[in-house]
Amino acid sequence: FLPHLVASMEQVEQTYIMVKPDGVQRGLVGEIISRFEKKGFKLTGLKLFQCPKDLAEEHYKDLTSRPFFPKLITYITSGPVVCMAWEGVGVVASARKLIGSTDPLQAEPGTIRGDLAVQTGRNVVHGSDSPENGKREIALWFKEGEVCHWTPALALWISE
Ligand code: UDP
Ligand code: MG
Repeated sequence: FLPHLVASMEQVEQTYIMVKPDGVQRGLVGEIISRFEKKGFKLTGLKLFQCPKDLAEEHYKDLTSRPFFPKLITYITSGPVVCMAWEGVGVVASARKLIGSTDPLQAEPGTIRGDLAVQTGRNVVHGSDSPENGKREIALWFKEGEVCHWTPALALWISE
């Protein structure tokens, strides 16, 4: 089984998921964490955090030239966020599916945004859009030692 194990380890990805200030204010933290927990992904980092402006700008640096950028920075820094790192095979794309489309009115029912939000500017949650950005964002939001590598007792009941 060793080659199989090595191959599957290469597919393990990390994604940065964040409950935005509206999600925290609306009491949706537990609900949002639950969706990723129930799916079977592994939580490796978790904290409540007041994001400073420079970090918000760095996180969203690809959107600097967009007209909504100043409002986006105000939104993300307007109250505490919940920062999470999640790990698993295919976790980046799967988390994006669980989250749903950027515009909550276009997001399918059953997704977080589809079920819990109505506006793009208040879409309650962030998820990395690629494995590279997953790593980049986790390194940006978490300090050394804050990400925890562990083996869930139920791992073999989730992945064969
Ligand atoms: N956003 C916005 N207006 C827009 C597009 C995006 O306020 O027209 C905000 C929204 O909060 C979104 C974030 O900017 O989640 C990042 O945009 P992106 O296109 O990366 O969407 P996401 O990856 O979050 O679905
Ligand atoms: Mg994005």
